[in-house]
Amino acid sequence: VSLSTGEHKPRILLMGLRRSGKSSIQKVVFHKMSPNETLFLESTNKIVKDDINNSSFVQFQIWDFPGQIDFIDSTFDSDTIFGGCGALVFVIDAQDDYGEALNKLNLTVTKAYKVNPNIKFEVFIHKVDGLGDDFKMESQRDIHQRATDDLNDAGLDKIHLSFHLTSIYDHSIFEAFSKVVQKLIPQLPILENLLNILNTNSAIEKSFLFDVVSKIYIATDSTPVDMQSYELCCDMIDVVIDVSWIYGIKEEQQEATAFDEQSSSLIKLNNGTVLYLREVNRFLALVCILREDNFDRKGIIDSNFLSLRGAIQQVFELRNKPQPSSMLTAPGSPI
Ligand code: GDP
Repeated sequence: VSLSTGEHKPRILLMGLRRSGKSSIQKVVFHKMSPNETLFLESTNKIVKDDINNSSFVQFQIWDFPGQIDFIDSTFDSDTIFGGCGALVFVIDAQDDYGEALNKLNLTVTKAYKVNPNIKFEVFIHKVDGLGDDFKMESQRDIHQRATDDLNDAGLDKIHLSFHLTSIYDHSIFEAFSKVVQKLIPQLPILENLLNILNTNSAIEKSFLFDVVSKIYIATDSTPVDMQSYELCCDMIDVVIDVSWIYGIKEEQQEATAFDEQSSSLIKLNNGTVLYLREVNRFLALVCILREDNFDRKGIIDSNFLSLRGAIQQVFELRNKPQPSSMLTAPGSPI
């Protein structure tokens, strides 16, 4: 099962000034680099196309541009680059003076919108780990205000920018990427609904559908996400992957991890909560949070899970067939 194949791959562009943190984000989210190691990253000075399609369920590409790229320059083929792009992530270093970054943002967004008005524009107000709460909020307000004012002045008020406060030193960067990726998944409402049904019928409090490699959650139920729960689930994935690496049998051809169709894991916390992970396919895992008392009914949970897995597979197989509403009542749904 793949989210999309061929020319339908949603592509994410990562742009911003030099040293704003683009390479670090890419390394930390998609290549498991620890944040401290990014201190030694070489500065980017050419366009890097990082194709992570083979290891990740979420099939998209990151293009890392050097900050000073010139749109007028003929080597920058904006039709191709913006044309096939689903989301443009613009990284602004919040610890630095961001005046120049805002100019660049305006220029980039204007140019990209002309080529492709369907692009989702996402601004990462980045490196906020160094800032106090008040300053963080103030920067967000200021950047939001100035960026939208600039667009309005240019008569481009149709363009919508979304803002995220991010840092590679906590889970905010994963959370922000999750939001960005979710906007590019047309099946999101169906997945959300399936997870709601699963929760209701299995007394589960929260469930996330994770892309295991990146720890991006591609969907969750409709209850609000609390950062602590998300972090717990991320940590659980790390544990499972680490144990799989150490003790899993690695077959010759099968790169990546020993995480496979059989993987599952159960962690009981000392506050009466259970974390339960089940694989959905080679790339996706379901992670649920529930009360330990309700885990008595594990048989029911497992059986509902199997229905969910079947339904998710159908959702992605039916990708290009416009009949999503029937999925919600399909016989395979968890009841
Ligand atoms: P690029 O030129 O945009 O690719 O920027 P780099 O990824 O090379 O990052 C420049 C510097 O910013 C590096 O020293 C990183 O360690 C640092 N950096 C990146 N992200 C963060 C962050 O979230 N917080 C802090 N404090 N530093 C960061």
